[in-house]
Amino acid sequence: MIAGGTTLALVIAGIAFAALGPASRPDGGPKSATPTGQHGGTQPSAQDMPAAVGPAHARLTARVQRTTAPSTIGRSTTLKTRPVVYVQAGHQSPGEPGYLWQTGASGGPFGSEEAFNVRLAPALEAKLRAAGVIVHHTPALVTPWGADGAVFISLHFDAVGGSAGIGYAVAQPGRGENYYQGNGSGTASSVPYPHSAAHRHATKVTYAVQQHSLKLANDLAATFRPVFTPANGTRSHFRGVEPGAKGNVRMQFFYGYYRVNTGARVLIECGAAGTDNRFLTKVNLMASSIGSGIIKYLRQTGQLG
Ligand SMILES: [Zn+2]
Repeated sequence: MIAGGTTLALVIAGIAFAALGPASRPDGGPKSATPTGQHGGTQPSAQDMPAAVGPAHARLTARVQRTTAPSTIGRSTTLKTRPVVYVQAGHQSPGEPGYLWQTGASGGPFGSEEAFNVRLAPALEAKLRAAGVIVHHTPALVTPWGADGAVFISLHFDAVGGSAGIGYAVAQPGRGENYYQGNGSGTASSVPYPHSAAHRHATKVTYAVQQHSLKLANDLAATFRPVFTPANGTRSHFRGVEPGAKGNVRMQFFYGYYRVNTGARVLIECGAAGTDNRFLTKVNLMASSIGSGIIKYLRQTGQLG
């Protein structure tokens, strides 16, 4: 379902990796370092494939290598090991069907939450690119639908009276994304209201996605907490990582988690309008902190060298 210029590179990278298989990693790394279950559980693992595919894999590898000109072998190798991260500027137009009225909090140092999110997103994207990550930006309308990759992160701040916190995709049987009245008003519900606007099709949040998302959320909390200080201009508090299915349903069953197929899916509220305004001006500080958490996650899960 990926559209756009990077499709071919990603497909080739995926084929090459699958063809090599867990026992023949180019870096000779241990099997346990091989990423598993990072694509929403929709693709068969090597273990699911019949043993007879071995020789076919070898042929496929040879084909992939033959189609790679010698001068670009280095680049091909780089692409194969570069993870993809989707960064969403929360509430940035165009909106997602079913949530079009959720235009974000007002206030903050730049006048609105959206104005903050569209400043933080490119700053974070630059940090990630500098570390070798392939970064794609998405507005509130998750684009493209069903995107594959390592990470999806949605950037936000909380309304006046709120605080900072991190949510992550939770796999709960029988529970999917939130529904609201019309295009996004009222209380979040696990089932549609009679007058809920139509949603786009949902991707799956599997248990593997939940576990990866939780790890990423914890890594983010570890790098964000040290900068969320009164010395840096905070006056609210950092709640840390939301407690699973018991957490804030708006953060744990956020629609964005159900529009991508990335291995990990998280949301961060960087602070609260008003009380944290001085901190929220420090976009580069936040970008560094959040970027460090994502990079730590990617390295520890063997997705970034
Ligand atoms: Zn928001």
